[in-house]
Order: sequence, then C-alpha cells, then structure tokens
Amino acid sequence: MDSDNTRKQIVILGSTGSIGTQALEVISEHPEQFEAYALTANNRVDLLIEQARRFMPDTVVIANEAHYPRLKEALRDLPIKVYAGAAALEQVAGAGPVDVVLTAMVGYSGLKPTIRALQAGKDIALANKETMVVAGEIINGLALKHHAAILPVDSEHSAVFQCLEPGNPIEKIILTASGGPFRTYSEEALRFVTKEQALRHPNWQMGAKITIDSASMMNKGFEVIEAKWLFGVSPEQIEVVVHPQSIVHSMVQFRDGSVKAQLGLPDMKLPILYAFSYPRRLKTAYPRIDFPKVASLSFEHPDLHKFRNLALAYEAMNRGGNMPCVLNAANEVAVSAFLSDAVGFVAMSDLIEYTMSKADFIATPSYEDYVCSDAQAREIARSYLTTL
Ligand code: MG
Repeated sequence: MDSDNTRKQIVILGSTGSIGTQALEVISEHPEQFEAYALTANNRVDLLIEQARRFMPDTVVIANEAHYPRLKEALRDLPIKVYAGAAALEQVAGAGPVDVVLTAMVGYSGLKPTIRALQAGKDIALANKETMVVAGEIINGLALKHHAAILPVDSEHSAVFQCLEPGNPIEKIILTASGGPFRTYSEEALRFVTKEQALRHPNWQMGAKITIDSASMMNKGFEVIEAKWLFGVSPEQIEVVVHPQSIVHSMVQFRDGSVKAQLGLPDMKLPILYAFSYPRRLKTAYPRIDFPKVASLSFEHPDLHKFRNLALAYEAMNRGGNMPCVLNAANEVAVSAFLSDAVGFVAMSDLIEYTMSKADFIATPSYEDYVCSDAQAREIARSYLTTL
C-alpha cells in the first residue's frame, strides 16, 4: 500500500451483481475510508466498463474471455489493468495491496477465488455463502493458517457476528427467515407457482439465484450450514425462526438464557458496510427504524414439510462430508432449470433429493474431491431432468 494511502483497498468479486453494485455505493459513500482496488464480473461487460470509469480501480477482470476485446478497448484511455479469465480472477483476489476481498459472485464459482484470497492472507467479506456450504472446513482451515478474517456479509450472519461476546460461548443461534413470498401458501398451491411469483421477494431486492433460493427456503438451509462453520456450533445449536417483517436479522442466546438480537431495516448496505469497516461503525444517512410504524414483530416455526429444501439442507449438514457440496450442485441445476421453465417449483426438491441419494458419499473430502463431487452431482441432476 502507498504510504500516503491508508484507505482500505477492496476487491469486489462480482461487482455487477446485486451485492457488488451495493458495495460500490458503500464505497462511494465513504471515499475517505475505502477504495475499489479491483472489480470483476462474469458477463455484464457494459456495466463493468461504467463502474471502472467511475471508480478507477487498479485492475478489472472479466471472467468470460469473449468480452475481453470490448473491455480492453473501452478502457484504453485509462491507466487500468484489464484481464480476462478464471486464472486472472483468482490472481487479483490475492494481489499485494489488497486488504479485503468481497466475494459476491454467484454459487460454486466463488470457491476457488476465495481459497486463493485466503492463501494470500486476505480478509474475506463473505457474501458468497455457497463457498462455506460446499467447503466450510477447508475455508476455516485456510483462514486459521493464513491469519485471515472471515467477515460475514449475509445479513443473518452479520447479525450473529454483531451479537457475539468474547469469552461467552453461544448456547444457541436463532436464525430468522422472512419465509419468502410463499410463506402462507398451501402445499397444493406451491405446485403451481411461477418463476415471476418466485422472483418477487416481499422484503429484499436480490439477484435471481438467491431470490429463488429464498422462495424455496434453500437459502435458509444454506445459511444454517454457513452458520455452523462461521461460528463453530453444532447443528442442534441452530434454530430457524420465521419472522416475516425482516427487522430482527438474527439472535444469539447465551448460557444464562439471555438473548441478544441485531435489528435493522432490510438493506444489504448495512452488513456490507460493517464487514468493510469492522470493528468500527461509520456514520450513515440510511433510514432508521420507526418502531411504532413497524408496530409488531412476529415469529413462527418454519414448515419443513412444505419447504422440503430446508429439511434436505439439514439432512446434508447432518450427513456431513461432501453432502452439502452435492446439495449445492443439485440446487444450482434445479434453480437454473426452474428459471428456464424446465422444472416446477416443488419438483426442484425432488431433483435435489434424488441427486443426494445417488451421489457418492465422501466422509472427509479434499479440495479435488469437492471438484469431482460437484461435477458428479450436476451430472446426476441433469440426467434426472431428462426423465421429466
Ligand atoms: Mg441472508
């Protein structure tokens, strides 16, 4: 880092997605504190060009190499390094001056760059929960070995993180869930929901993949697994509670029975900012909670029978080994099939259950095992689709 530059240097992996664009807003709101060191995107080259011209990062990377000529040409008048491809993306995550890497890409693709960033000792602002779902044990081991922090960006995990007390062990984590758009639907009605309905989340503005995961409650299942690895608790110590208002972002219960909650309006910029500014809190002009206007906060049990994905996630976590990796791969195939009208909403759970029953079980997988397991699970899931 330049001696006259004490601003935190931030890499945003996935800068054109929902979390990425909000992270850039956070950076622009705190120009004295943060600087975008590198921006990366998969395919949205036009938005990446616009972001690069505005934020003037050291480096930009487009994962899809077909877009490289256009990106290079559009930024040729600027002193910005331009690269393409997966290897460049991994390399920038571990680059010298970087302080924090925000992992905001979609799905399994986040795993390898996160590993590279940790190997270089970079702190991770973790938005890509699939990384922890697939390979939480490996990620934790690398963070420990390379003295890197993993700062949660997921609103629930940020809440838990903010409630922790050094020296006081967690008795229980209470993860809140909005319940999604279909919370009050009957099992029968769930069969006929469309992708347009599933893409309309009541409280949160997010990308397509996570919005479908929220509607099916797979997102909450992933978050339970993520919480297990992030906070070192056992599955029995994590309870999911449906809280439709999305004001209580999650809670921690201590051994004296006391419960701490973190509250806020549903806005991802808050947990993003906290991951960047930790352990400090920075001033913001975001809207504050008006409690009388909120009026009531309600809580109910999740329906594991109606939302089978949540039950399947618990099953994968309890079986352990590569099963969460299989769960994730099957879910990625299921969600993309649902978004292209190749499978119905409820049938996504059938597909995931089938894949989990057919995939080889590996009790203590290596990184290479995860790669193979991911590929095998996708193949099984795709073969199931052809039978429909
Ligand atoms: Mg969340």
